[in-house]
Amino acid sequence: MRWVDEFRDPAAARRLADGIATAMTRPWTVMEICGGQTHTIARYGIEDLLPEGLTLLHGPGCPVCVTPLEIIEAARALALRKGVVVCSFGDMLRVPGARGDLLDARSRGGDVRVVLSPLDAVQLAARDPSQHYVLFGVGFETTAPATAMAAELARRLDLDNFSLLTSHVRVPPAMAQLLSDPEGHIDGFLAAGHVCAVEGLADYPAIAARFGAPIVITGFEPVDILDGLLRCVLQLEAGRHEVENQYARAVRADGNPAARATVDAVFEVVDAPWRGLGVVKEGGLAMRSSWARFDARRRFDLTVAPADEPTTCRSGLVLTGRLLPTQCPEFGRGCDPDRPLGAPMVSTEGACAAYYQFRRSAIEERA
Ligand code: SF4
Repeated sequence: MRWVDEFRDPAAARRLADGIATAMTRPWTVMEICGGQTHTIARYGIEDLLPEGLTLLHGPGCPVCVTPLEIIEAARALALRKGVVVCSFGDMLRVPGARGDLLDARSRGGDVRVVLSPLDAVQLAARDPSQHYVLFGVGFETTAPATAMAAELARRLDLDNFSLLTSHVRVPPAMAQLLSDPEGHIDGFLAAGHVCAVEGLADYPAIAARFGAPIVITGFEPVDILDGLLRCVLQLEAGRHEVENQYARAVRADGNPAARATVDAVFEVVDAPWRGLGVVKEGGLAMRSSWARFDARRRFDLTVAPADEPTTCRSGLVLTGRLLPTQCPEFGRGCDPDRPLGAPMVSTEGACAAYYQFRRSAIEERA
C-alpha cells in the first residue's frame, strides 16, 4: 500500500540504522515525544537496530496519560450527578483518578457513555433534552479542533443541555520544560507529526535555539522514526540545532490554519497541569469566558483541586523519560493491562502498555 509499505521496508530501515551507526562518534540521547512513536519503536524493535551509544527516552506524548487525576475526579463527580451524562472516548474510562475511574463511576450508577467523535455527544444532547450531556474532551493539539467544533455546533443548535469538561494540552511548552530540567539529559527531540499537522512548525525554532537541541518532526512508521533519528544524530554530530520536517507528506510549515482558527475561537492558552510534569507554563487550553455557557467547570461550579499520584505508580518518572517502564517495580507484577495501576498501562499510546505488548522478553526476564 502506497505511503505505508515503503515506510515499513526492512531494507530501508536497515540502511538508516547503519547510517546512524556510521554517523555517531559519541553517545547521544534523543526523546521521542509522542506515544504513537513509542509504540512504533517498541512494536518494530527499533532499539535493537540502534548502536549502543544512542539512547531513546520515551516522552509524555500520550494524551490519556497526561490528563491530571483531578480532571478525572471532576468527570467522575459529574457522572454521578442525577440528570448528567458524561460522554468520553473509550480509552479514558479505565484511567485511574485519585479515587477510581469512570468505569467505577458507571458501576456506582453514574451515566458514562462512550462516543467515537465529540460531535456524537452533541447529537445525543440534541435528541434528549431531559438530560445534560457533558463531553469529556482531552488530548493534544490534534483533538482540540474537534472539541472546539462540538462547542460551535452546540451553540449553533442553541443547546442548553450540553457542556464540555476539557483538558487539552500543548506539546511545545512541555518540550521546553523537559529541556530546561537541570537533571534532564535530552540532546534532541523527535517531535510529533500529527501535532505539527495542525499547529505547523512555528513554535519549534525558538525552542531548538534556546536549548541547543535539534528537533525533527517525524511520522509514525519505522522508517519515519529511523530517518528522524538519523537526521537528529547528523545535526548533533555537526553541532547544529535546527528544526527539520521529516514528515513532509503530512505536515506543512503553517499546519492547518482552519483547524487552528477553530481552536482559537473557543480556547485560550493557559498554564496547565500535566500528569507527571506538574504545571506547564502555557501548556494547556481553557475555554474562553465567552463560552462560559458551554464550560462544565463554570456551569457546575466545579472545584478541581490538585490530587496526588499514588506512590505505587511511577508514571511521573516514566512520562518524563527518567524511568523505563520495565524499571518500574510494578511492571508486569502488580500492574498489567488487565489491572493497570497507572494511565501509561491503560492507554494504547502509553509507554508501559507498549512495553507490555511488544517487549515480552523484558517481562519474561523478570519472571
Ligand atoms: S508499570 Fe504500571 S505502576 Fe509502573 S509506571 Fe507504568 S503504569 Fe505506573
